[in-house]
Amino acid sequence: MKKILADRTGLIDASGIRKVFALAASLKDPINFSIGQPDFDVPEPLKVEAINAIKAGQNKYSQTAGDSLLLEKITDKVKKQVGWPNPSVLVTSGVSGGLLLAFMAIIDPGDEVIIPDPYFVIYKHVINLLGGRCVFVDSYPDFGLPVEKIAESITEKTKLIILNSPSNPTGMVYSEEQIKQIAEIAAEKDIVVMSDEIYEKFCYDGACPSIANYYDKTLLLKGFGKAYAMTGWRLGFAAADQSLKNVIEAMTKIQQYTFVCAPTPFQKAAVAALDYDISDFVEAYRKKRDLIYDGLKDKFELIKPGGAFYAFVKSPVGSATEFVKKAIDNNVLIIPGNVFSEKDTHFRISYATSDNKIQQGVEVLNSLA
Ligand code: PMP
Repeated sequence: MKKILADRTGLIDASGIRKVFALAASLKDPINFSIGQPDFDVPEPLKVEAINAIKAGQNKYSQTAGDSLLLEKITDKVKKQVGWPNPSVLVTSGVSGGLLLAFMAIIDPGDEVIIPDPYFVIYKHVINLLGGRCVFVDSYPDFGLPVEKIAESITEKTKLIILNSPSNPTGMVYSEEQIKQIAEIAAEKDIVVMSDEIYEKFCYDGACPSIANYYDKTLLLKGFGKAYAMTGWRLGFAAADQSLKNVIEAMTKIQQYTFVCAPTPFQKAAVAALDYDISDFVEAYRKKRDLIYDGLKDKFELIKPGGAFYAFVKSPVGSATEFVKKAIDNNVLIIPGNVFSEKDTHFRISYATSDNKIQQGVEVLNSLA
């Protein structure tokens, strides 16, 4: 029979998170620690903005780079936050859209990308699809930025270093000092840094530093989905200084032939989202972080997460996959670490759920430890 599938489809597996997500649908009222999205809903005023945009007929394509008002607001925000005098900006279909466009714009077959391990799943699979080579740099056991190992991993073929702080799956926030050191190393070797800051708002113990403040050749990726609980609206943006203007231009060109544009009515609502204060939600999530950490720290080995809504916990038995099976048998959904890592020693908890469910889940996990 004629071969239908392209060889590249063999380079990737179905997402391990999605597998647990599908399992969740088949269980009756599970304690679901698997989902990477907030448990609150889109704030009412932002829903009204989207509905009004749809009713007002804002339902056609926007410009490829994004709605002009939204672009203006994002540009102002980046100027203020980062200090780049004239940033280039592209509105993307979620941060996932931005990641695909960025990798397509930057990576040739054989190019190497340095990624701290554990890492967010999309990086590995999309880089593999494009024929790039992931160079994983172990950040166990404390999940801080492994500066020296990153420096040692750089070769002639290194195209990109990826940072993700606050991190999925560890909840780690990189320190200013570590970030400055990476900025120096990258500048010395003239390597682009991609900084995925989708969790920037979920930052619990002081500010979360961004490498963009220390290194101009940073490609910033940010999102709306997590902060405003609108993951289904598929909105994000990429921004860069003039020194990486050509990357944003190439991404925009590829967007013309792929996503075309991000969803127009939601871009209209995103203008309002940029001015919407979510500090009450963040405060509630800080408390959830404390519930998880204080609840598990006596029986499990875990680092206190400083941001996002994840904890990465060491499995008390053999492999994490084994422990995850036990947890799922007891109606608690967690994700094995090998979904995010070359190792299978830890499991990820997403504590983006009700305080009541967190307490129940903590009890079950402790009983299994
Ligand atoms: N980066 C990280 C680190 C994430 O955790 C996620 C979503 N889980 C994304 C990017 C993709 O986000 P979006 O839904 O905006 O595509």
